[in-house]
Amino acid sequence: MSRAAVVWLTAALAVSAAAAQAPGGGRGRAIPVKPGEECPSGTTLVRVGQCQAPEWPAPSIVDYRPKSTLVVDGHPVPRAKFPVVDIHSHTGPTPQSIDRLIREMDALNIRVLNNLSGGFGAELEQRVSFIRSSKYADRFTVFATGLDGFRDVEPGFGRKAAAQLEADVRHGAIGFKIFKPTGMDTLRKDGTRLKINDPELAPIWETAGRLDIPVIIHTAEPQEFFKEPDLHNERWLELALFPDRRQFLNPNKVTFEQLMTERNDLFGKHPKTRFIAAHFGWHANNLALAGRLLDEHPNVVVELAAILYDLGRQPRAAYDFFVKYQDRVLFGKDTYAPAEFPYYWRVLETTDEYFDYYRDYHAFWNLYGMGLPDGVLRKVYYQNALRVTPGLPQTGW
Ligand SMILES: [Zn+2]
Repeated sequence: MSRAAVVWLTAALAVSAAAAQAPGGGRGRAIPVKPGEECPSGTTLVRVGQCQAPEWPAPSIVDYRPKSTLVVDGHPVPRAKFPVVDIHSHTGPTPQSIDRLIREMDALNIRVLNNLSGGFGAELEQRVSFIRSSKYADRFTVFATGLDGFRDVEPGFGRKAAAQLEADVRHGAIGFKIFKPTGMDTLRKDGTRLKINDPELAPIWETAGRLDIPVIIHTAEPQEFFKEPDLHNERWLELALFPDRRQFLNPNKVTFEQLMTERNDLFGKHPKTRFIAAHFGWHANNLALAGRLLDEHPNVVVELAAILYDLGRQPRAAYDFFVKYQDRVLFGKDTYAPAEFPYYWRVLETTDEYFDYYRDYHAFWNLYGMGLPDGVLRKVYYQNALRVTPGLPQTGW
């Protein structure tokens, strides 16, 4: 977006009230609009075909936090009903944190925290050996990450990275993590974008298949990150907060659809490798598409980290999806924050209505519970993870 557009957008949001007060701004007076036409900036529809500006200066969307007056039964869930594997964490124990982590995990009923930021080589070995030497060897696991962040890929890289992965698995990694820059931002040595389905990377996927470990793959970002942050973009606030999420400015000019196509091509080319599509493959806002992804690729499962706001705004469709694909969804959270997990338990376990969510910039709406049956909950919380990731502690569940 150009600088002028940013200035315009800021002006449109912050001083809409001032605009409404300008001569002819129509404060208190009806402004006619044709069918299908939008109300002018600073006004809202009050009758069919009539817009009006509020008499008071409008608060910004950052400040407006209306409290719901809805009175309904609520059933907060501080502790998950069944033990949980958090397959998508970036937190691992240290000598300073391990006792606190175990206390928090026990309270939440998280049995295993899987650290996707395991690194590779000596770093990974160190993490694993600390876990194994601790009193809680069966509570923490790690995935290996790509050699050198996949920078400067050139012929021969794939074989080297595959050999590194094999060594890392020997040293205790139970899966492989692909971070989002790979396929989107990272460049090959020749300066072109490294596509996730680049044949050079094939030995890595084949090795993961042979070693019977899953590859968790974060491709792209929510689709709205690839669009201009205009006043119809439901992630406007998030884009305004975090410069690194503005994919519409991505120098590689890659689109959401392109990234999905390349990722799905990768899934199709390596049917013997198990893939976990992180963040529901960014299709939680389009469950029909998520269903097609799973139908077309039996080697793929999804995990639900950081998309709770999409499940919680369509609890009935999400319920149907989870029942139909009950063997294909894993629990993940991403950010480790003990105060936030109970929102996940509540959406998955209860039929509560219209309760608040913890992160305004993800969603300006409230959430509803899906009320999943116990059998489905068990699969989502741990059984699917145990099947997809044989390296997880398999006993004592
Ligand atoms: Zn993550």
